[in-house]
Amino acid sequence: MAPRTLSTAYGAVHDRLRRERGRASAHPCATPGCDRPARDWAYNGSAPFVIGDVDGAPRTWGMNADQYEPRCRRCHLRMDLGGTIATCPNGHDRATHGTSGTGCAECSRIRARNRYRRNRMNAQAPDVAAAIQTLDFPDLVAFLDGLTFGAYAALVPHLTTTTIRRLFDHYAALETPA
Ligand SMILES: [Zn+2]
Ligand SMILES: [Zn+2]
Repeated sequence: MAPRTLSTAYGAVHDRLRRERGRASAHPCATPGCDRPARDWAYNGSAPFVIGDVDGAPRTWGMNADQYEPRCRRCHLRMDLGGTIATCPNGHDRATHGTSGTGCAECSRIRARNRYRRNRMNAQAPDVAAAIQTLDFPDLVAFLDGLTFGAYAALVPHLTTTTIRRLFDHYAALETPA
């Protein structure tokens, strides 16, 4: 009998996983030190894998049942948000830096530091018009969002026409109902 090629479609792999290994919830979470029960079969990132689309969203999944480990939702999310069990998506070691919910404590600290810098810049009002020229667009939007309307209106004339047009496109996109 010729060997049968198994389907690597997302649903087929997950069906096989349940058939061969049972329900993830019958196992403890595979993360060392995590004492939660598992909820899902989580792909461990190894080859061979498929890059595809599941229910309209881009996903990457392993082809074989042995590429999955039982994980609790929190650990599963940490892996699927781009990091690994050991490191955050930005490469910070989770054991050293600690965690903040499903996220990374070091990334939270960096975001807080950037917020603080922007607020300091806000306080140095005469220099703001010059300083905002150096921000990239997402930082500029975040900075402007934190201002009172009066401070905002005073700064807009210092922006280039291109930037103002981008801002209006950005606000228009926010107002478009989903
Ligand atoms: Zn866990
Ligand atoms: Zn991080």
